[in-house]
Amino acid sequence: MSKHSYIVDPVLEAEYKKAPIDWTPTLMLILTPIAALILVPWFGLTYGFSVGAIVTMVLFIIWNGLGITAGYHRLWSHKTYEAHPVVRFFLLAGGTMAIQNTVFEWCAGHRIHHQHVDHPYKDPYSAKRGFLFSHIGWMMRSYPTSRYDFKNIKDLKQDPMLVAQDKYYGFWILLTNIGLPAVVGLAIGDLWGTLILAGLLRLVISHHVTFFINSLAHTIGKQPYTDTNTARDNWWLALITWGEGYHNYHHYFQMDFRNGIKWWQYDPTKWLIAGLNKVGLTSNLKVVSNLQIKQAELSMRFKTAQQRIQLFGYSIEDDMHDIKMNVQHEFEAFSETLERWKQLKEESIAMKKQALVQKKEDLQGSVKNTLHEIDLKLKSDFNQLETTLGDHSQRLEVILRDFKRKVRAAA
Ligand SMILES: [Zn+2]
Ligand SMILES: [Zn+2]
Repeated sequence: MSKHSYIVDPVLEAEYKKAPIDWTPTLMLILTPIAALILVPWFGLTYGFSVGAIVTMVLFIIWNGLGITAGYHRLWSHKTYEAHPVVRFFLLAGGTMAIQNTVFEWCAGHRIHHQHVDHPYKDPYSAKRGFLFSHIGWMMRSYPTSRYDFKNIKDLKQDPMLVAQDKYYGFWILLTNIGLPAVVGLAIGDLWGTLILAGLLRLVISHHVTFFINSLAHTIGKQPYTDTNTARDNWWLALITWGEGYHNYHHYFQMDFRNGIKWWQYDPTKWLIAGLNKVGLTSNLKVVSNLQIKQAELSMRFKTAQQRIQLFGYSIEDDMHDIKMNVQHEFEAFSETLERWKQLKEESIAMKKQALVQKKEDLQGSVKNTLHEIDLKLKSDFNQLETTLGDHSQRLEVILRDFKRKVRAAA
């Protein structure tokens, strides 16, 4: 077997092999962890760190993390909500401090990552090229996939705040990474301790936390929504990545401002965005409907059920017939529900259009009431559909339990 998990194009592969080293990120990615490994224990053992320096580091880690997740990722790359300029500035400053390139570079690459996820020659951090490549390798050499034409971020180029970041990026990096920790350090009377913890160690930690989303979140975890790409849902990764561990959902529904959609799923980025919305600082939060989410989940469950039956089916062939028929039957019922849903959506559009036509003809009439009635009717119809999807899911669960019992009995 070839060591690659993709079809090799010899010409492009040669181009990857001879890609020149990109020295600036390479030196930064190698030297900052080494410096932190030496300086942190040495300074800690020799002089000790003040509580102030430790607290500053924690606050800066949170600020950098949210700057990347709520700012670079969910606001600018995916446009899942809108934010007040004060919020945007706060997120931009945190994201800049995290030294992960400008918003323009980051978002251009990230949008390509979604468009061509896993493609060995198109996705800039394709997980198919290996764990290390997707974690940091992709930044260390000037690969053809990392040379963007920026055609996919024309919307962002209109934003003066982002243009300014691009123009004065070097200055802002020095100011946030050295200037700011130095000022705080002087203020709390622990200049060197703050520079080492809140300057250096904070940078290394926030770097690798983000990199895990490209590497670990494409390697370990569950795939409840789709198995057409390597992205995974992973609750413990969500704990250290401000909620970005629910990456399978994110790759399926990238327009949603949430990554962890269930109320109990740990996604502080979604809580921040929703909380700011309550006080009017964010708006137009985009969410995918429950119905669509349930449909995706259930389709995936059917797919896995059918794969499992194929995989284990041979050993218990006699009992398999009923199970296969049951799954098939339930799948047909599910497809029917989806068909009804599609019709309902079309009907709702037609009904609303008609009501609007009426509005033009009959200005003082009861159009408002009609629209309200339509909304009520649609809501109850959609609720019914949601219940039906729930029923399909429960019945499939019962069939699968029966299947598991039989596999165990046959083994
Ligand atoms: Zn994304
Ligand atoms: Zn991804």
